[in-house]
Amino acid sequence: MATAEQRPVTLKSGDATRDGTLHVSVLTQRERTIRAAKIWGLCWGLALVTLFIPIAHFVLVPGFFIAGPVMGYLRYRMAAVPERVTGVCPTNHEEEISIPVEATVKFPLWTYCPKCNASVLVVDKAAVTVG
Ligand SMILES: [Zn+2]
Repeated sequence: MATAEQRPVTLKSGDATRDGTLHVSVLTQRERTIRAAKIWGLCWGLALVTLFIPIAHFVLVPGFFIAGPVMGYLRYRMAAVPERVTGVCPTNHEEEISIPVEATVKFPLWTYCPKCNASVLVVDKAAVTVG
């Protein structure tokens, strides 16, 4: 089972800076393999389905056929999946915020505070890219 891990980040908005936490799921070897197999299978399944679309199948079938192992490899390489950033809004210093992030997120990340809509820059303190 994936283990939850927390990494320190900095939330910036203008001159204001606050500490935040990046929540990530660290995947086991087995989970990484399953995730890779799922995306590989999905791509090859789409290659099979698009086989019956006239003319487009000349592009889609080889495209999905090649995308399968490529996407599978990229998924397998991802050892940890970022889920959300939590902390106190740097603009409105009282609100506790939780910002959902995509698995392929790259830091520094410009986003918006979900409560007051102020722009927030999320900087990874360790400056280590996840994934
Ligand atoms: Zn806010």
